[in-house]
Amino acid sequence: MHEMSIAMSIVESVVAHAQKEGALRISGVELLVGKLAGIEAESLKFCFSAAAAGTLAAKALLVVEEPEGVGECGECGMRFQVTFYYAECPKCRSLRITIVSGEEFLIQSITIEEEGEQENV
Ligand SMILES: [Zn+2]
Repeated sequence: MHEMSIAMSIVESVVAHAQKEGALRISGVELLVGKLAGIEAESLKFCFSAAAAGTLAAKALLVVEEPEGVGECGECGMRFQVTFYYAECPKCRSLRITIVSGEEFLIQSITIEEEGEQENV
């Protein structure tokens, strides 16, 4: 499963980060997953809890933010919401569209706990 391997690499990277910081555990992970990133947020959340079991991130709350897809027309410059890569400009019908947002996929923040206190990284 696509989402499972992604979840595992997220867990790996947040755990490595937490260990470097000397954290007792990870209490939260915030992800940015654009609507055009080709990743199912719901399925990713499910896989994350499976992948995090038994690690420092086992109790981490996963928050997934999903920015909308936005395209920009190469002909008329109009910006509009897209739900698919091969979008068409609603104004001039051009297919020369550049995706300007919605493809994000990154770990936005990790909340770790060090001896009872919380710290945002
Ligand atoms: Zn256009």
